[in-house]
Amino acid sequence: MALRASHNAPVSTLSISVARLAEGEHHYTFTAGTSDIGLGAEFQGPITVDVDLSRQGRQFYLDAAFSTNARFVCDRCLDEFSHVIDGTYSMLYVPEGTLADGDGNEEGQEIQEIPADAQLIHLDDDVRQFVLLSVPGKLLCRDECRGLCPVCGKNRNHFDCACTETIRDTRWDALKKLNKK
Ligand SMILES: [Zn+2]
Ligand SMILES: [Zn+2]
Repeated sequence: MALRASHNAPVSTLSISVARLAEGEHHYTFTAGTSDIGLGAEFQGPITVDVDLSRQGRQFYLDAAFSTNARFVCDRCLDEFSHVIDGTYSMLYVPEGTLADGDGNEEGQEIQEIPADAQLIHLDDDVRQFVLLSVPGKLLCRDECRGLCPVCGKNRNHFDCACTETIRDTRWDALKKLNKK
């Protein structure tokens, strides 16, 4: 068997080598497939991540800005639509043993511990989580989406149906039946 220096397989798609990083500010631009960082099929890569990393001794301060595209199903009309998902986050990396409980969030600042002799800072998990946090709670193809007609079921963004919009409140049906008796 040939003897070769073995390199560990990369555990992260987005990672920054910090072993011999000089003090001060550094800039990185990453492009990766969204599935490579564990995002679901609704995210249609690539994702771009712009990173400013500044080193002060054993501490690293990171500013990241990400942008990608997703296809969602509208909550109101059930049409698919494309949506840009973008956002920013910052992270302070400190050597292991600095924080009482291993990781923290002090005064709104996200903090993570990394090994004192860390070779790499891995971004996959954080980017994935901040992307997911940027997904709107209500998924609408447009703010003024007119939704589906409750009578005929047509998409009112595309069709003008002639249905009269009296939406029956079925909660009273039982009572009406009783009254007829
Ligand atoms: Zn819609
Ligand atoms: Zn209708």
